[in-house]
Amino acid sequence: MREILHIQGGQCGNQIGAKFWEVICDEHGIDQTGRYSGDSDLQLERINVYYNEANGGRYVPRAVLMDLEPGTMDSVRSGPFGQIFRPDNFIFGQSGAGNNWAKGHYTEGAELIDSVLDVVRKEAENCDCLQGFQVCHSLGGGTGSGMGTLLISKIREEYPDRMMLTFSVFPSPKVSDTVVEPYNATLSVHQLVENADECMVLDNEALYDICFRTLKLATPTFGDLNHLISATMSGVTCCLRFPGQLNSDLRKLAVNLIPFPRLHFFMVGFAPLTSRGSQQYRSLTVPELTQQMWDSKNMMCAADPRHGRYLTASAMFRGKMSTKEVDEQMINEMFRRVSEQFTAMFRRKAFLHWYTGEGMDEMEFTEAESNMNDLVAEYQQYQDATADDEEYEEEEEEEVDA
Ligand code: GDP
Repeated sequence: MREILHIQGGQCGNQIGAKFWEVICDEHGIDQTGRYSGDSDLQLERINVYYNEANGGRYVPRAVLMDLEPGTMDSVRSGPFGQIFRPDNFIFGQSGAGNNWAKGHYTEGAELIDSVLDVVRKEAENCDCLQGFQVCHSLGGGTGSGMGTLLISKIREEYPDRMMLTFSVFPSPKVSDTVVEPYNATLSVHQLVENADECMVLDNEALYDICFRTLKLATPTFGDLNHLISATMSGVTCCLRFPGQLNSDLRKLAVNLIPFPRLHFFMVGFAPLTSRGSQQYRSLTVPELTQQMWDSKNMMCAADPRHGRYLTASAMFRGKMSTKEVDEQMINEMFRRVSEQFTAMFRRKAFLHWYTGEGMDEMEFTEAESNMNDLVAEYQQYQDATADDEEYEEEEEEEVDA
């Protein structure tokens, strides 16, 4: 068993955390009382990653909820899945953090932190082999941001060899009008660079734009934004929750995706996008999904991928689809495209002087070209060899790394 301990803090953190549990309870067939009422063994095979088993066959989220004021947690408790959480794992103060990172990190939050750590410790001790932690919070306020990063640093101190994943909501003036949010966010990022292993960037600006432009919602609410967030969180964690080979735990995910330790901020794209209460009216093809997934309009972070380059990327496909088709869409395609573009330019020696001017030999280009063509050939070979195998796999999800 490789358990994950989930922590949610502050207003935003508790709101998105509660939605996350609603979504994954549904996916794993867990009802509002914690009882299993699903229809597939796959739902329970790795249930222990996120849930504890209590007496009477109930499943209880391994979740700690904290806040510096009682309001949001009250509404979680009275929400649809409010009764599923362990009551002792709600830790809250009364003072609030007034959107002030310093209150969360150094004063009010520092006073409450030990009671949070006590619960964290208790949960960690209950685990067979804890793989790590995941924290949901916003960076723009005071509690999730200041106290959240305080907790992260305390956990790092006490569990230095466990993984720390965060779902961090970045502020945007389109959604909120508190002027000090950039301060709070910057102070938090400084902490996350040092003390977190992997951060999923959820940018309110991008979420708002998706709601407004793509989903055509005239006045997007937090509920609409959080719908996108919970779908994304479910997607990001599906390889941790269901059986599969690739990126099956937090450390493998990090090893595959983090080329340099400080660069662990992930941009997440999601497809197909739907708004709350609506549904997809036709099934999308693998090429359509692939195209959407890489589209800047589908990114949960308002940064255009076309303005930079990916250092690493991972693509997960869920549902029944042909692995062959997914493979064809993902990896080879990209190298092939790059290779074709390279050849088109190299044939005319376009832009070469920029490189030779720096002392590079034209030979190196020729070698690089043939090396890449070899790579394409190797992929092709692998693809042809596996093409006859499983055209369809009755698996819950299918993942491909690119
Ligand atoms: P805290 O309770 O002190 O941690 O403060 P908040 O979580 O309210 O932090 C304020 C920031 O979080 C602002 O940037 C808000 O726009 C954002 N925020 C607050 N609630 C939500 C929410 O439910 N969803 C999203 N996406 N953002 C939120």
